[in-house]
Amino acid sequence: MLTQIRGLHHVTSMAANANDNNAFFTKTLGLRRVKKTVNFDEPSVYHLYYGDEVGTPGTVMTYFPFPLIGQGRPGVGEVGETEFAVPAGSLGYWQERLAGEGVAGLERDEAFGAARLRFLGPDQDAFALVEAADDARAPWTGGAVPADAAIRGFHGARLRLHDADATEELLRFMGYERVDMRKNLIRLAVPGGNGAGTIDLEELPSAGGARLGAGSVHHIAFAVKDRAAQLEVRRALLDTGYQVTPVIDRDYFWAIYFRTPGGVLFEVATNEPGFDRDEDTAHLGEALKLPARYEGMRGKIETHLDPIAD
Ligand code: ZN
Repeated sequence: MLTQIRGLHHVTSMAANANDNNAFFTKTLGLRRVKKTVNFDEPSVYHLYYGDEVGTPGTVMTYFPFPLIGQGRPGVGEVGETEFAVPAGSLGYWQERLAGEGVAGLERDEAFGAARLRFLGPDQDAFALVEAADDARAPWTGGAVPADAAIRGFHGARLRLHDADATEELLRFMGYERVDMRKNLIRLAVPGGNGAGTIDLEELPSAGGARLGAGSVHHIAFAVKDRAAQLEVRRALLDTGYQVTPVIDRDYFWAIYFRTPGGVLFEVATNEPGFDRDEDTAHLGEALKLPARYEGMRGKIETHLDPIAD
């Protein structure tokens, strides 16, 4: 069993409109945009990153806004819901705030003993705020949400699966342990994690398959400390029979990807070098940053991207 994985690193989803996406995450949810760059494989679209002050792994929600993308269709084989941790007692504030902002899908529920507020993003992205009493992570307070309610980072993610067995086996190999089970939900958690250490598996044997589109999660990334730990994880996954990509330089972290038995795309990403490698902390996310190989095309790239209003 692996011990290098510390919880989530980031969650990456698809959006239809960069400005709507930016406004929702920075203004409505009060996160900080920590990087404005392009999709490294498709530089005609943005890659936007939102998180805490410095984009600490475990706090970073990222988006590819594709202007012409169709709407995603929820189903099995994907991340069905992304959960953010908020302080105990703050859901009343959030319900009022999100209702006032016209956010759709507001619904209070409870999972594994914790109160939650479910809501939808601008592309029907499924989210929940989860009250987490003992989350010591410092929130970004430069937005409109007060510190006693602000998002601390991810709580976890809920995967929708036809059958959870093989995915649970994989997550246990990755260092997660089963901590609870309710009806068709299995809760796994990584001991001593980074605060974003929970994965729930939701079994839906008769549901149809998901179709990727606006509002869909593209992949979830798990955090490892450094490149040495990542290579250990890669070697172990290869030895277990997974098809894992080579290590890819994403400028702010190093990434490997592999498709899981239930259909969800997993990434393992390093905590190094971080989002402040090419911008001062005070100005993170302000300028359009391009990987070196696209700098020569900056003028052309910029004319194809809608400017984002801050
Ligand atoms: Zn990623």
